[in-house]
Amino acid sequence: MENTTSGLEPGLYIVAGPIGNLGDLSPRAADVLRRADVIAVEDTRVSARLLRHAGSDRPMIPYHDHSAEGVRARLIERMAGESVALLSDAGTPLISDPGYKLVRDARAAGRSVVTLPGPSAAIAALTLSGLPTDRFLFMGFLPVKQKARADALAEVAALRATLIFYESGPRLSESLAAMAQGLGDRDAAVSREISKAFEETRTGTLSELSARYADAPPKGEIVVIVGPPGEAPPASAEDADAALIEAMERLPVSKAAGEVAKKLGLDRRALYDRALELKG
Ligand code: SAM
Repeated sequence: MENTTSGLEPGLYIVAGPIGNLGDLSPRAADVLRRADVIAVEDTRVSARLLRHAGSDRPMIPYHDHSAEGVRARLIERMAGESVALLSDAGTPLISDPGYKLVRDARAAGRSVVTLPGPSAAIAALTLSGLPTDRFLFMGFLPVKQKARADALAEVAALRATLIFYESGPRLSESLAAMAQGLGDRDAAVSREISKAFEETRTGTLSELSARYADAPPKGEIVVIVGPPGEAPPASAEDADAALIEAMERLPVSKAAGEVAKKLGLDRRALYDRALELKG
């Protein structure tokens, strides 16, 4: 393959940046940012600061997955003979950030794709949480609307895995309460401002943490880690009734029975009959 003037092989370079502390930019990532022919970024003002830190004067192009098809096609075209770096405002590109369509299309066009691994808030928060790390699921941001949020939680409630959510300060307490309702009152950790001056991790049950933040929404960037379901005692008839009544407010009877069966590990048919009784 022909080298470009920068000395980097042509292709796409996925560059992980810091999630707060500029010192977390790896020497290899800084080197690619200094030598790439062009850097695709989310926000040129945000990335300008990191490029100054890295000693890079390379040109930037704004890129989002919803950018016009033409923008992506031109970048893919350029990768034939030039090196294109992809950088996010924070952390690893593609993780709740733009990039997957660029990677998909670059591969489809036969371009070289290289990743420069580095920080991601999801993994950093998981390591701080003290919760099981052997199986985890990244959930990104929960939907804002109540029903969509409850549906998203119901979908994963039965999974034996630690869950990772991105969240914002103003919504934190309400989201934690919704998680307690939809997942059960599990152990959790809230990490904010990781690698920055006011870094803090608080642990407790979801309802304790929700109460803790109810009157004082925290500032800054936040990750919530929720532990897997415990070996809970079998659900009581009262628990099943309460869960059915709540689910029937959102779902038709058969779906409500299915959701509760999954969540509480009970028989679907018996729950369906009980749901009809409660409804009648
Ligand atoms: N690509 C990034 C990554 O690899 O972590 C995530 C980008 S996403 C748009 C931004 C969200 O990540 C924030 O709203 C917050 O939930 C989380 N986040 C980013 N930096 C963080 C930090 N220093 N501390 C805690 N959470 C952070």
